[in-house]
Amino acid sequence: MSAAVHAEPEGLDVALIRRDFPALAQTVNDKPLVYLDSGASAHKPQAVIDAVGRFYSRDYSNVHRGVHVLSQRATEAFEHARTTLARFVNAPDERGVIFTRGTTEGINLVAQSWGRANLGPGDEVVISEMEHHSGIVPWQLACEATGASLVVMRMDDRGALPDAELVAKIGPRAKIVSVTHIANALGTINPIARIVALAHAQGALVLVDGAQAAPHLPIDVQALGCDFYAFSGHKMYGPTGIGVLWGRYELLAAMPPWHGGGDMIKRVSFEGTTYAEPPARFEAGTPHIAGAVGMGAAAEYLMGLGLERVAAWDRALLDYGHAALAQIPGLRLTGTAPDKASILAFTIDGVHPHDLGTLLDMDGVAVRVGHHCAQPVMERFGVSATTRASLGVYNTREDIDRLIAAIRKALSLLR
Ligand code: PMP
Repeated sequence: MSAAVHAEPEGLDVALIRRDFPALAQTVNDKPLVYLDSGASAHKPQAVIDAVGRFYSRDYSNVHRGVHVLSQRATEAFEHARTTLARFVNAPDERGVIFTRGTTEGINLVAQSWGRANLGPGDEVVISEMEHHSGIVPWQLACEATGASLVVMRMDDRGALPDAELVAKIGPRAKIVSVTHIANALGTINPIARIVALAHAQGALVLVDGAQAAPHLPIDVQALGCDFYAFSGHKMYGPTGIGVLWGRYELLAAMPPWHGGGDMIKRVSFEGTTYAEPPARFEAGTPHIAGAVGMGAAAEYLMGLGLERVAAWDRALLDYGHAALAQIPGLRLTGTAPDKASILAFTIDGVHPHDLGTLLDMDGVAVRVGHHCAQPVMERFGVSATTRASLGVYNTREDIDRLIAAIRKALSLLR
C-alpha cells in the first residue's frame, strides 16, 4: 500500500479502513484481491462480524415474547439496532423503521400494502427508466392488481432525468412516485428533494430506493421530505437478509398488514383479528435478529467514519476512475450524469463484457458484468450488458490502477 492513501484530503485514512475488512486481505488467482463489486454487495468490517458473533455467542434468543434474561437482551439488541438505524437516516423516531429482508422487500411492502389499499383505475404510479428491477416489478404487480397505470420518466443520454421530464410525468393523476436515489447501473444521483416537491404538489407520495445511496451518501429522510425510504444491510457493509423500510408514521399507521403471523397482532380470534401498531404490524414472524444487530453495527461504523467524508472519498475516486478509463481506446462510459456516485460502468468496442470480466478475475480484479437487474437501462443505451466497477469505502486509487492495467492486458488478448 503506498503512502498516497494515508491522510487523504477527504479526511479518511483508507489504509486503516482496509484493515477493518478481513476479506480484502486475500489473494484471488494468486493476485491480491481488488474488490470492485460493492454495488452488488459490500464486504463486512470486523465490527459487524464481531457484533453478530457476540450476539450469537452471548445474547441470542427470540425477541419480544420472553421474560427470561436472554430474551430480554436479544430484544434490547434488536430494538437498539432500530434506534441506530433511525438515527442513520435521521428519522423523527424509530417507530417508522420497519425491518425487512432488504430493499426489494421494502418496495414490495409499500406496493402491496399501501398500493392495494390506495390505487385504482385512473391512478398513476410514476417510476423512472433507470430503476432496478425491484423498483419496477413490484409496481407492475400492484398496477395489475388494482388497474392503476405505470408511467415512466425517461432519461437523457447521460443517464439523468431532465427537469422537464419530471414536470411532464408527475401529473395530477400521480398517486406515488417511486424512484431510486442512486441508479445501480449508472451511478446517477437523482434530485430527490425536487421530485418530492413536484409529487407533493400533486398530492402524490414518494418512495425512494436507497439501496445504493445508504452506503455512499448522508441520508436525511426529513430533509429529503420523502414518504418512504428503503435500503439493504448487505450493501452498507452489514449482513444479507436484512434491510429497512422507513415510512412516515401516519402513513404506516393507516396501512393494512401484508403478511400475517406472529408478532404483528394485537389480538387473534376466529371471529376476527386486530393488528399491532407499526412497526410490529409489518414484521410478521421471527425476524432476522442477528441481521438487524449487524446492520445496526454497520450503520454505527459508517457514522463513525462520517458519511460526508465517505461521500467525498467516493467522489474523488470516481473522478480518478473516469479520467483513467478515458485513456482506454474504444471505451464508452454508461452513465455520465453530472451528479453521480460510486459506479463506473462501461462498454468497450468489440469486447464482450463477460469475456472482459473473466480476464479481469484472472488478474484478481472483481467486477460485475451483465444487465445489473436494470434491463430497461441496457435497452436505453443499446447494449445487452456492461462491465461495472462499483466502489466501496475501502477502495483506493491503486485499485483503479490495477483495474486499468488488467483491462489493458485483457484487451491485448481479446483484440
Ligand atoms: N435497488 C437498487 C438500486 C439496487 O442496486 C438493488 C440491489 N442491486 C436493489 C434495489 C435490490 O436490493 P436487494 O437485493 O438488497 O433487495
